[in-house]
Amino acid sequence: MTEPADLTPFILQGTRDLAALVALESVSAQGRMLPETAAAVTRLLEAEGFTVRQYPGQVAPLLVAEAGEGPATLLIYNHYDVQPEAPLDLWNSPPFTLTERDGRLYGRGASDDKGEFVSRLAAVRALRARHGGQLPLRVRWLIEGEEEVGSPSLAAFVEQHAEELKADGCWWEFGGVSEDGRPVISLGLKGIVCLELGCRTADSDLHSSLGAAIDNPLYRLSKAVASLRDDSGRVTIPGFYDGIHPPSSADSQAAAALPDVRGAVQQSYGVRGFLGNADAGEYNRRMNFEPALNINGFHGGYGDAGSKTVLPASGFVKLDFRLVPGQEPERIVKLLRAHLDAQHLSDIEITELESHEHAARTDVAHPFVQAALQAARSSYGSEPVVHPSSGGSGPMYPFMQHLGVACVAMGIGNVGGRVHAPNENIRVRDFESGVAFGVAFLEQLATGR
Ligand SMILES: [Zn+2]
Repeated sequence: MTEPADLTPFILQGTRDLAALVALESVSAQGRMLPETAAAVTRLLEAEGFTVRQYPGQVAPLLVAEAGEGPATLLIYNHYDVQPEAPLDLWNSPPFTLTERDGRLYGRGASDDKGEFVSRLAAVRALRARHGGQLPLRVRWLIEGEEEVGSPSLAAFVEQHAEELKADGCWWEFGGVSEDGRPVISLGLKGIVCLELGCRTADSDLHSSLGAAIDNPLYRLSKAVASLRDDSGRVTIPGFYDGIHPPSSADSQAAAALPDVRGAVQQSYGVRGFLGNADAGEYNRRMNFEPALNINGFHGGYGDAGSKTVLPASGFVKLDFRLVPGQEPERIVKLLRAHLDAQHLSDIEITELESHEHAARTDVAHPFVQAALQAARSSYGSEPVVHPSSGGSGPMYPFMQHLGVACVAMGIGNVGGRVHAPNENIRVRDFESGVAFGVAFLEQLATGR
């Protein structure tokens, strides 16, 4: 076990690196300072003995770095781009100046994802120092600058550069620490399909008296939406659940051991209840292993004060499906089409909104996961909280499909970290533990202890 005191110089250097990176306004949505930030990241890596190759991306350069030699190869995935800083007036300190207040470091990217990158780099630096300047395992690092705009180049890049990126496991770009200081580890991400359903029954709006003789697009959309799931949340499209990979017994046990967060969710958001009156076990099972259909918005007709007797000409609904391993996004769209046709709703048009994402999940019993858990126990001194899958989505699938790597998300975020929002922050103690975890994890992979 590494005493945090030994790591002090590396933590201080890491904090200085973080300040330098936060100062670079690498907002990918606005194309700001992306080559400059890629160059700064390259310099930091080269100073630690990495060879760095830069490749063009659709929005920003991708970097592939490599250093070290040993029995194990670790792939690390991070990104150097950030979300826009707006609204500026809600920041308590300048977004691109790393600022310490009350045990936290504030700044855009302090957590997502520059803080994660820098804490890992600090761990590499500490490990090299401990091993006489040599890194006792091979570290491959993929760092992109397009994550916050949906990673448009990433999947094809991973496929084309599979040889360069092959590894025994991948350390995913994010992670967090619970309120009470336990490391929170995620081993998967759900897939996603975003769609719009549209219906038009006339070229222009009509007097509502004509509703006696002419169909209504919002009625037809309601009928379509209502046919997609039941009251418990189960999707009722035939074939939707076919081919799903069931969780392993280790995954099921991990989900069953997760804390009951329903009270906290109810308190934070004032939600009135849970689908299927889920108890804690069922809530965690659903969040980790169940696909879902969610209606994002229902639009059409008159919505202002009072009444307007109108028969609208058209309307639309936006929805997303969250998928689990074994569900093919394209197939889900086809099943939806077939289902609507079978319901005599062929006039409902389906528009696919964004590129779809497949789900990915690494088994908790995988040796790479077990190494991460062991390192987390020794560096945090507490039992990790293990999510077999996050409820959210991200580009993990290409890594598993093309590289065959196990993926572990583990990092320095905190519940109040305000990622993507004003006053993004990390807790200083989480940064320190993150560096200690990185040292323990790399050491564990390199030497098995
Ligand atoms: Zn982000």
